[in-house]
Amino acid sequence: MWVTTHFFAGAALAGAVRPRRAPWVGMASHAVLDAVPHWDYTRDSRRRYWAALDVAVTTVALVGLLGTGRIGPKQAVGGLAGALPDLDVLGAVLPVPDSPRLFPSHLRGFPHGRAGMKKGILVQVGLVLLALRCMRKRG
Ligand SMILES: [Zn+2]
Repeated sequence: MWVTTHFFAGAALAGAVRPRRAPWVGMASHAVLDAVPHWDYTRDSRRRYWAALDVAVTTVALVGLLGTGRIGPKQAVGGLAGALPDLDVLGAVLPVPDSPRLFPSHLRGFPHGRAGMKKGILVQVGLVLLALRCMRKRG
């Protein structure tokens, strides 16, 4: 799943827990979301552009949400912890050595969800909107 989706989900969920649990909730949400059928750009020929867009959107979201007070440091930590495990797949999108995967949902045998591009993108946009709605409810 995209870094952006993991960031938004981790940030939204971290809003419901104590600060010290925020990173763990973010990381746990990463594993759960990777099982949801979605489209990953790691096998697409334009994966470097998708990855740049993904990281840029996440960065703008982090700065924007923090800057407007929509999220606090706890949610930022949860969101970043949710996105962090995707460093594991860096070798799939950038010309860096592809090292062995470490995060459980990136290992062979994990029921990684897959969907076509259109459906897979819609699922992720829906999850981001749901996360935004949860952030709004908490104020
Ligand atoms: Zn992942």
